[in-house]
Amino acid sequence: MSIAENIAAIREEITKAALAAGRDPAQILLCAASKMNDAQRVREAVAAGVDCCGENRVQELTAKLAEDAYRGAPVHFIGHLQTNKVRQVVGRVDLIQSVDSLRLLEAIQKEASKQNLTQDVLLEINIGNEESKSGFAPEELDGVLEKIGAFPNIRVKGLMAIPPICQNSGDNRKFFQKIYALAVDITAKKYDNVWVEILSMGMSDDFRDAIACGSTMIRIGTGIFGARDYVNSHQS
Ligand SMILES: *Cc1c(COP(=O)(O)O)cnc(C)c1O
Repeated sequence: MSIAENIAAIREEITKAALAAGRDPAQILLCAASKMNDAQRVREAVAAGVDCCGENRVQELTAKLAEDAYRGAPVHFIGHLQTNKVRQVVGRVDLIQSVDSLRLLEAIQKEASKQNLTQDVLLEINIGNEESKSGFAPEELDGVLEKIGAFPNIRVKGLMAIPPICQNSGDNRKFFQKIYALAVDITAKKYDNVWVEILSMGMSDDFRDAIACGSTMIRIGTGIFGARDYVNSHQS
């Protein structure tokens, strides 16, 4: 199937999952996770109407920006961002989805201030408390949000999470539900510089469950572009 056909199929699945949950399908945005796919394939996805593109690595982002690959769609950074690379990302993407430390927030604030702009971000939550994953622990979240008011060049637009891999279908839902509950909780607390509009959760294998639990943005790689060829890649 072509990229456009894959996107059409995913859109149908989004609609089904949303309606089954009593939700409006228009509330769920489709982010094309385009790591390891070249500018031409990204352009195909944009032409087929994804709502945004998500890039994992700074080097790939920079290269594809130079090729104008994302024209017509917002671009998000969705990978682990090192503080020494914020300069290459701040102001160049519409949203940094994967802010996972206070140090990174400080670095983004500094760079955004220097560029005289406001950078939209999501806070990544390590919802399964996994050592292998980055992100704030759920217990840390309030402490971090209390400090966001002191970062005038940052706007927190919501949360992002990658739950642990679950063996049994449906087990992932408790993690998605936890994220949703966190979002409801922090919305009620009305922190400065925090507008909870986006819950970025759900990937190719689990987006239906994520939508059932309130996701407003799913990040799809394999389902759009096909399996990634890690063996023959020079970027891994
Ligand atoms: C690669 C990636 C995705 C997409 O994963 P698939 O399982 O291929 O859909 C989503 N989010 C992040 C952060 C990723 O790195």
